Amino acid sequence: PKLYELANTPLANADVNRSSATFALQAKQLHKAFNNVEVLGSISFAVTPGEVVSLIGPSGSGKTTLIRLLNGMDKLDGGEVWLNDQSFIRLNRNTAGKERFYENSALSQQIGMVFQGFNLFPHLTVLENLLLAPTWHKLGTAEQRQHFAAVTLNKVGMLDHANKYPHQLSGGQQQRVAIARALMMKPRIMLFDEPTSALDPEKVTEVLNVIEQLAREGITMLIVTHEMKFAFSISDRVLFMEQGRIVCDDTPDALRSGNHPRIMQFLKDIS
Ligand code: ADP
Repeated sequence: PKLYELANTPLANADVNRSSATFALQAKQLHKAFNNVEVLGSISFAVTPGEVVSLIGPSGSGKTTLIRLLNGMDKLDGGEVWLNDQSFIRLNRNTAGKERFYENSALSQQIGMVFQGFNLFPHLTVLENLLLAPTWHKLGTAEQRQHFAAVTLNKVGMLDHANKYPHQLSGGQQQRVAIARALMMKPRIMLFDEPTSALDPEKVTEVLNVIEQLAREGITMLIVTHEMKFAFSISDRVLFMEQGRIVCDDTPDALRSGNHPRIMQFLKDIS
């Protein structure tokens, strides 16, 4: 009962996305090789606060690798990642002149990550999953965290399941919890890596609807997806990757108008 009451009490500071930064995220000439084989060429793009950007392209083109570089899960071999106009990940030269991976760990909380496989903590309830990171990082008071968790679970339609464990939920429900969990840290940008590709077809829509709602609220997002209709309807811009490069960065309207023959071909091939 307490959670329901909290969920319906307005948050004192509800605007999670107010930002005076020019860019929420910048990728600057990112490079990545596996076993000396270049997987990402010179990747550069930027996402402004409130923007929704989709990342599409054939399987093996480097989308997942790019997402993993952006959140520090994989080490880049060149270039820099900036968050909220601050340098987040780069290579630093040590005194011997050797380049070493450097990540400003204070900034890593500002990225919200949603994976294909949900990745909830199996031994924690839904509510505990949400509270773990903000409690660890001492974001607000315990009461404020409960309040924000209740509001956020309500937003993704999972308030009724707050005390269940992940295995008691469907894939679509787990993914909605994973989205809520990422939102708990009030990230500057949410990264989604194929958030619906592990779901049964009938569960896809419920997750896409939640992401669509976040877009309407002005949450900044970068979304790797195979759901083309969704990508084109939700995005301000679409990035098209091929063989480790971004070969197109344009609005859905421009893409639809046929200015980019390669993308038209790709869309035809997969439909
Ligand atoms: P996408 O997400 O677009 O399907 P990936 O980023 O998964 O593409 O893969 C891009 C390329 O990098 C592929 O050729 C893949 O085989 C290679 N690759 C990805 N991860 C590794 C790894 N850990 N070791 C070696 N090669 C990898």
